[in-house]
Amino acid sequence: KNRINQNIEELAEGILKGDRSLLARSITLIESNAEHHFRDAQALLQKLLPHSGGAIRIGITGVPGAGKSTFIEAFGTFLCDLGLKVAVLAVDPSSSISGGSILGDKTRMEQLSRNPRAFIRPSPSAGKLGGVHRKTRETITLCEAAGFDVILVETVGVGQSEVIVRDMVDFFMLLVLTGAGDELQGMKKGIMELADAVLVNKADGENKRLALKTKAEYNRILHFLQPATKGWQTRAVTCSAMFHEGMSDVWETIQAFEDMTKGSGVFEERRRAQTKEWIYAMIIDQLQFSFFNHQDVKPLLPQMENEVISGTRTVTSAVEELFQVFSIDK
Ligand code: GDP
Repeated sequence: KNRINQNIEELAEGILKGDRSLLARSITLIESNAEHHFRDAQALLQKLLPHSGGAIRIGITGVPGAGKSTFIEAFGTFLCDLGLKVAVLAVDPSSSISGGSILGDKTRMEQLSRNPRAFIRPSPSAGKLGGVHRKTRETITLCEAAGFDVILVETVGVGQSEVIVRDMVDFFMLLVLTGAGDELQGMKKGIMELADAVLVNKADGENKRLALKTKAEYNRILHFLQPATKGWQTRAVTCSAMFHEGMSDVWETIQAFEDMTKGSGVFEERRRAQTKEWIYAMIIDQLQFSFFNHQDVKPLLPQMENEVISGTRTVTSAVEELFQVFSIDK
């Protein structure tokens, strides 16, 4: 017990000093699905919580091929050159379902990964003690305690992952390709309504003219949509991740957003709401975990399944039976 406490103390001190390898080790602790790691990780987070919250948290989404990793490489390098410390995290919806990964397969962001001011962490896999969700939020806390100024959270624009990431960042941007009106119309309005900025990427070479046209088109459409953040008009910006162009425009947009929302109180209000939402997400995680791992529920579950499938029991009665054994002891 003492040894563990001592270790946690060492980890906490190391992180506060910005020690990379101790940060990486602590994130591994958070990502671990072993119960004793879970306890240690929580003790560590408790110590670091007062030192978190100082970064600007930025989410990035877009379909595969939109240029997310190229963009993060360019934008991250741009921010490092400004003297900022940048952490890159990923939420990969595929890893929790298939065990494979959309984001992690290729060698990504090689240049940025060698930058001493940057820290890149691939997506954790889900597992029983809470999903990717909890792990990413807790990793943000650790990175902030370690002194990172900017946290970039990347996700693929499929399924629910963009909603999950929207709920953990201050500023959310959607990376899109240049395209005709058709493509714009086919785009889910829902995703556009989550975004604080739409980045029209690959605005280079022959594509540049079309990119400017696409930007204008997005701005026109955005004007009619509900903005994601109170008081902020979501806008489109062009950039070329490949040629490192437009990075300062993106950063200026984010800074204007930060100034505006901090001035109006919307920034803090959102963070409070996100923290509150985090509590409920975790309660659901924990309930699910304790239910499915309950010593009496576990063996009863296949039996109830069989009875329901063979038609000898109703679903409601099966669920009731399961909750009965769940609620008998603790
Ligand atoms: P991701 O799947 O969203 O991470 O996309 P990638 O970053 O892997 O980029 C997909 C492809 O688009 C790659 O071949 C990139 O080299 C290319 N790409 C990315 N950004 C740009 C850009 O700004 N201009 C051009 N011309 N190509 C780009």
